[in-house]
Amino acid sequence: WSSKDFPWYKKVVEVLETTFKLPGFRPHQLQTVNAVLSKEDTILIMPTGGGKSLCYQLPALVLPGITLVISPLVSLMEDQLFALKALNVNAAMMSASATREEVNSIQQAMVDKNSKLKMIYVTPEKLAKSKRFMTKLQKMYELKRLSLMAIDEVHCCSQWGHDFRPDYKFLGVLKGMFPDVPILGLTATATSKVIVDVQKMLNISGCLVFRASFNRPNLFYEVREKPSNQKECFDSLVELMKTKYAGKSGIIYATSIKDCEELMQELRKRGIRAGCYHATLDAALRSKVHQKWLSGEYQAVVATIAFGMGIDKPDVRFVIHHSLSKSMENFYQESGRAGRDNKPADCILYYRFADVFRLSTMVFTQQTGLECLYGIVAYCLDKTRCRRSIIASHFNEGWDTSDCNEMCDHCRRPREKKEIEIVEYCRSLYKLIQNAAGNDAKLTAQMLVDAWFGKGKANLRVSSVKVPSLSREMAEDVVGHLLIEGYLAEDFHFTPYNTISYIKRGPRAAAALSEKATVKMCVQGARKTE
Ligand code: ADP
Repeated sequence: WSSKDFPWYKKVVEVLETTFKLPGFRPHQLQTVNAVLSKEDTILIMPTGGGKSLCYQLPALVLPGITLVISPLVSLMEDQLFALKALNVNAAMMSASATREEVNSIQQAMVDKNSKLKMIYVTPEKLAKSKRFMTKLQKMYELKRLSLMAIDEVHCCSQWGHDFRPDYKFLGVLKGMFPDVPILGLTATATSKVIVDVQKMLNISGCLVFRASFNRPNLFYEVREKPSNQKECFDSLVELMKTKYAGKSGIIYATSIKDCEELMQELRKRGIRAGCYHATLDAALRSKVHQKWLSGEYQAVVATIAFGMGIDKPDVRFVIHHSLSKSMENFYQESGRAGRDNKPADCILYYRFADVFRLSTMVFTQQTGLECLYGIVAYCLDKTRCRRSIIASHFNEGWDTSDCNEMCDHCRRPREKKEIEIVEYCRSLYKLIQNAAGNDAKLTAQMLVDAWFGKGKANLRVSSVKVPSLSREMAEDVVGHLLIEGYLAEDFHFTPYNTISYIKRGPRAAAALSEKATVKMCVQGARKTE
């Protein structure tokens, strides 16, 4: 598909250079453009910042008629329209906030063969809800003016993605309604499972799939143990920002809005210029924070995941996750905002056992919420493997560890891999859980570890259960490992104030109790010396 022999090649290059003012294609762009212009349904998987937009914007200008661009966020569309306007490209957006005149002029253009309009941006909600727009679209199709349908963030179709949106389901009708108009689906992160799901949902099974490498060679990946003492944790962040990242710019992700605000205050108290950014700030304030960060007035923005989609600051030198992300996909996308200029940048995640349960009680009602969360927990708990190889295997990409170039904590300071047998620990934990149940009690993960160490309420302890000869952190790692491997499981209970996660036996309990059972966990061995 990367051939230069297609009849439109000359025109494509001309548009690339004169309209988009770009010197050449990035990997996978020409393939995708060729496929789309050949009317092939295509899915393009490319990391954020890789240049996906060009893959439909350029064909939109080469093809006659109009390209429909379906995108989930109005703010993303506004950014794109702004950029297109600067390039003198005629594009418009159908949104809830559009004025009557704007709507009329778009609808007019849809059926007017002399119109110069090349692209219409629309949200899936709008498509699903506006019969009138769908009728116009049908007309436009009959007049052969619908040339391409681009669906941005296409993983939102799939329940297996990290960002499922019900309105994307409606997009399943498009292929049936407009069978000979190619569909181009775009996403930054998608496992094979998600892609198969998306193809089915859009009725384009068997379509072309182009996959750019996930690998960001300039990003250094690291997981740090998060101090359980909050003050210590703030101090360590500030220390980093005053030394290694002095004069450099970054993002700190936090779990909740309250965490964001608190973290910002704590950083400010310690003399760091920081702003915060989350969904409940009004648009004007958000834009102000964004501006101050872009200009360097703020060294860091403390943000929930709301911050990021559509931001394009090239010199982000650090992305710090103050707590776990909700999934590997989220983590990859959030950390991927670092180092867009291809210069070295750091992606640090602060891991702490307690955070697993803060997040699990937030995500467990989502269909794949827990499975996705355990994916990122596995990344954190892994003490020896190359971080890149964990990310690669998550995205079903092969990976040669030596290609990491010591750009992760494990490859930079490698350790021997050591396996320990934890089946006895697992059985001890079962005894504690059973004993608690006998006393009409349930154990949270913290209570379970306490009881294991002979602490907490007396009736929750079991004399035949030996205190493990492990550090508290290591014991927590064991519980975490048993949880993500299915030997333990979470049991959620609603109270009027919150949701509590208790620990129970997991679906693999029978296997752990069988006579010859073995359950292994990798721990850090001695440092490898050169
Ligand atoms: P994505 O949608 O994959 O996150 P974008 O389409 O927003 O990425 O592109 C990211 C940046 O890369 C934009 O600033 C864009 O102008 C730039 N870009 C895209 N294609 C090229 C190219 N062929 N050469 C140079 N820069 C490019």
